[in-house]
Amino acid sequence: MRKPIIAGNWKMNLTAKEAIAFVEEVKNKIPSNDAVDSVIGAPALFLYPMVEAAKGSQLQLAAENCYFENNGAFTGENSPLAIADMGIQYVIIGHSERRDYFHETDEDINKKAKAILANGMTPIICCGESLEQRESGETNDWISGQIKAALEGLTAEQVANLVIAYEPIWAIGTGKSSDAQTANETCGVVRATVEELYGKEVAESVRIQYGGSVKPENIKEYMAEENIDGALVGGASLQPASYLALLDAVK
Ligand code: PGA
Repeated sequence: MRKPIIAGNWKMNLTAKEAIAFVEEVKNKIPSNDAVDSVIGAPALFLYPMVEAAKGSQLQLAAENCYFENNGAFTGENSPLAIADMGIQYVIIGHSERRDYFHETDEDINKKAKAILANGMTPIICCGESLEQRESGETNDWISGQIKAALEGLTAEQVANLVIAYEPIWAIGTGKSSDAQTANETCGVVRATVEELYGKEVAESVRIQYGGSVKPENIKEYMAEENIDGALVGGASLQPASYLALLDAVK
C-alpha cells in the first residue's frame, strides 16, 4: 500500500553536462510512477536544466538542501520558493553530511521541513546514528529524538505524506551497509515514533527509506522488509546503468 520511493543523492558530484547526459540516458527507461517514485537529488546548480531535460518523463527531481526563508539577504543560499517554482518535487534535508560539516541543527531541519511543505514540495528528512552511538546502545533514543525535533509543529496530514530516510552514518559511502534486519528494526523505531506523535494511520502511510551503501545487488533485501519503503542511494545512483538497475529491482 505504500508506494516505493528510490532516490539518488548525487551529493557534490557530476557537472551540468554530465547531469544532462544522465537524464537523457535514463529518461525513457524510468518505470511508471504508479509503481515506484524514481527521484534524483542533484546539486541546485544544475537542477533547472535537468528539469527541462526530464520534461515528459517519469523522472522526478530533488534538491539536496534549501534555506528556510523564501527570499531575502541570505547570500549563497537556495530559496525553497525558487526550487518549487522550477518544478522540483522533493528536497532532501538533514543529511548527516550537512549536520556534521555544515552544522545544521534539528531546529534548522524543522524550519526547512515547514518551508518545503509550505511551497508544496515533499521533504525527505534524514536521520541516523554514529557507530559510537550504535555500539553504546543509544540508537533508538537518538533516532526518536531526531524525528521528534524534525516534525515539531507539523500537521498529521503533512507527516503522512512526507518521506523519512534512515541512514546509519557508519554505513554511508563506506561499503559497509547495515544488514536488512537491523535496518528494518531502526526504521521500525522511526515508524513507532511517528505513531506515538500522530497515531497509527499516519505511521502506516509515512514512507521510510533506508540509506547507506545500497546498490543493485542488495536493494531487494531491504525492500523485502516490512518497514522499509525505499532507498536513498549515493554512490550507486551516479551511473545511469546502476540507477536503472536499482529501479528495476523494485518495480
Ligand atoms: P551511499 O550514500 O549510498 O554512497 O552510501 C548514501 C547517502 O549518503 O545518502
